[in-house]
Amino acid sequence: MSSRRIIPLTDVSAVPVVDGPALAPNGVLHDTLARPLRDLRISVTDRCNFRCVYCMPRAVFDKDYPFLPHGALLKFEEIERLARIFVAHGVEKIRLTGGEPLLRKNLEFLIERLALLRTPGGRPLDLTLTTNGSLLARKARSLKDAGLTRVTVSLDALDDTLFRRMNDADFAVADVLEGIAAAQAVGLAPVKINMVVKRGTNDAEIIPMARRFRHSGAVLRFIEYMDVGTSNGWNMTEVLPSADVVARIAAHFPLAPLDAHSLAETAQRWGYVDGGGEIGVISSVTRAFCGSCTRARLSTEGKLYLCLFASAGHDLRALVRNGSSDAEIATAVAQIWHQRSDRYSQLRGSAAAQDADERRVEMSYIGG
Ligand code: SAM
Ligand code: SF4
Ligand code: SF4
Repeated sequence: MSSRRIIPLTDVSAVPVVDGPALAPNGVLHDTLARPLRDLRISVTDRCNFRCVYCMPRAVFDKDYPFLPHGALLKFEEIERLARIFVAHGVEKIRLTGGEPLLRKNLEFLIERLALLRTPGGRPLDLTLTTNGSLLARKARSLKDAGLTRVTVSLDALDDTLFRRMNDADFAVADVLEGIAAAQAVGLAPVKINMVVKRGTNDAEIIPMARRFRHSGAVLRFIEYMDVGTSNGWNMTEVLPSADVVARIAAHFPLAPLDAHSLAETAQRWGYVDGGGEIGVISSVTRAFCGSCTRARLSTEGKLYLCLFASAGHDLRALVRNGSSDAEIATAVAQIWHQRSDRYSQLRGSAAAQDADERRVEMSYIGG
């Protein structure tokens, strides 16, 4: 691995300048492409106990890697304060992510606080979490009791040898399956299972995974391997288009398309014709869904990113820690969202996207 791959974790982000008239939240914010702000993904740690080859390759994320110091992380009360402002602006769904979110100590305390938030219309949030599942069996009950609504578990293979090779940390498939079962048992449902498909690495696992999770109540989703960050050595030849995934499964288990739950849904849904449940495919590379992207991302240290492929964030932690009022922070968020024009996946391959290549933040820092 060449040293130029070892990039700093964080970018040089701007502290938002709050000027102009106050923009008080009224439950709706639109960006330059008329996309509302509806989802917030919050990364609660940049650390992980896995070293998935496509996300945190061990050669880069080694013992010398400069993970964030504890003081840099947003505290739970800081996260709650920002989340409250985002919800006032129209966020209805919050997803906790990382790194591995279940590594964050006392995460349940944060979930308890977030579960008390209400939309301007008085509804509770859709409060969910994405995890590698390794600690889920132990934590499912306390997460549910704290107010978590649902959970998404990542699992890339059922073959134990292959799975251990992909997570590169010797975690067994059985641990993750136990976590999924525990989540289902406590009612963190429907459990979604994310499988990142790398052609030539784990595409032979598509059918075994489909077979395993049919009739299980869980929704298996296949994600195209993406060019996030700069450390995973991404190559288009390793992307298996979702259309191929659907065709392969349909050859074994007939499928029919299902309607989207909402316009902003990232996955295209397919149902097993025999009533065995449904799958989803997330075609981030071959079928960009930027036009309906309503997601903002808050990094572990409180930087706001407007796109998974962004190279710079907006330093909300600086505002939180410099005595800015809620009204000032709300105005900053509104100004930032109003100016949003990101649509990287639509532009992938264009000169503008190529230009940004070397500066993108890592998935483990910004969250999925
Ligand atoms: N550690 C948790 C996990 O693995 O579920 C949460 C964070 S992880 C960054 C979130 C999701 O991003 C996971 O489902 C992971 O498989 C996915 N992911 C990471 N790198 C990816 C890539 N290059 N392409 C597509 N998905 C990726
Ligand atoms: Fe960790 Fe999730 Fe990245 Fe795998 S995908 S290395 S589990 S953050
Ligand atoms: Fe949203 Fe950026 Fe992904 Fe497009 S590329 S869907 S704007 S996160």
